[in-house]
Amino acid sequence: MKKPAEPEQSRREFVREGARLAAIAGLGALVGGVATKAAAANTVWQIDPFKCTWCGKCATACVLQPSAVKCVQMYPMCGYCKLCTGYFEPEPNKLNTAAENQVCPTGAIKRKAMEDPYYEYTIDEPLCIGCAKCVKGCTLFGNGSFYLQIRHDRCVNCNQCSIAEVCPAQAISRIPSDKPYLMKDRDHQGPQGGTP
Ligand code: SF4
Ligand code: SF4
Ligand code: SF4
Repeated sequence: MKKPAEPEQSRREFVREGARLAAIAGLGALVGGVATKAAAANTVWQIDPFKCTWCGKCATACVLQPSAVKCVQMYPMCGYCKLCTGYFEPEPNKLNTAAENQVCPTGAIKRKAMEDPYYEYTIDEPLCIGCAKCVKGCTLFGNGSFYLQIRHDRCVNCNQCSIAEVCPAQAISRIPSDKPYLMKDRDHQGPQGGTP
């Protein structure tokens, strides 16, 4: 008897789970970094991704240049869309990787074909300047899996964060240093309910 085909949904979940585990491994290293660097501080500055309005000031107001703020990809929320509104300009000439089709000014988002019709989008962090253009595109028209976080392997934990001073959404506040990231997950669900 012919073996039934593997359901499309289960293949997709497999791809997503692999990316999720990769993301968690990366964050583990970052949390380790903050534990040693900010041991003296009980709190660190962080962005609430559900309050951020993508104004762009995170790229320019940080005392560091490039900014300590970077884009994060929350893989379990990503739709792995062929037409990613965080990656492509609103009216791209073609759905390819040509620079003029990309919303990111520095080419920091990498697009890789997965199993048809899915594409994986990863952030090349050294290139990211925290401008939030991709976050806006993904949040307004996509699943909202791109968002900004202050990376504590870079942030010097200023007494007063200069981005927090100018943030129009009051999205930046101090949080406990033993949980230094506000992930869109079960620990931090937004008004829409957080993770799928
Ligand atoms: S300054 Fe505030 S609203 Fe603007 S991008 Fe940064 S966190 Fe978001
Ligand atoms: S669009 Fe801006 S925030 Fe997004 S990856 Fe590129 S530089 Fe980073
Ligand atoms: S605390 Fe200082 S280094 Fe960290 S994000 Fe704010 S301005 Fe940048």
